Amino acid sequence: MKLNEYKIFNDYGIAKLIEDASGTKALISNQKFEMGQVIAPFFARATFQQPTYLTVQISDEEHILLGPEFLQYTNHSCDPNAFFDTTEMKLVALKEIKPNEDITFFYPSTEWKMDQAFECLCGSPHCLKIIQGAYKLTKEQQLSYKLNNFIIRKIQESVI
Ligand SMILES: [Zn+2]
Repeated sequence: MKLNEYKIFNDYGIAKLIEDASGTKALISNQKFEMGQVIAPFFARATFQQPTYLTVQISDEEHILLGPEFLQYTNHSCDPNAFFDTTEMKLVALKEIKPNEDITFFYPSTEWKMDQAFECLCGSPHCLKIIQGAYKLTKEQQLSYKLNNFIIRKIQESVI
């Protein structure tokens, strides 16, 4: 995205919240991150037993509202550049992220069964099109993404 095509809502130091002409909000990086670098630690502002469209799943029965709050604007991509590591509670770069690049993660890497499935328009050549959670991933898709430990365990359990 080019800077003059969107509105900047707020600046959080490492990233800023923007809205493009279509009204889509996104979190874009203010700086370069190397692969494996921690973008930000995160914590639970609140914990629920059921998912909502705003929560991130961190275990079988824990769905959290992300803190710091701006991290909830991290969008989905089928070609993500970041990963919410729910074991370490850290948002980590999966590859190099350049300044002004959207920070994105793969929703099924944390979500087993999403509250609301949606049609993905990420534009990746490998786009999955319909994002519903890890329980709907094919074996090939499971293997091609970095997934959280509890998701991997649930996949193993669901095969047995
Ligand atoms: Zn996609």
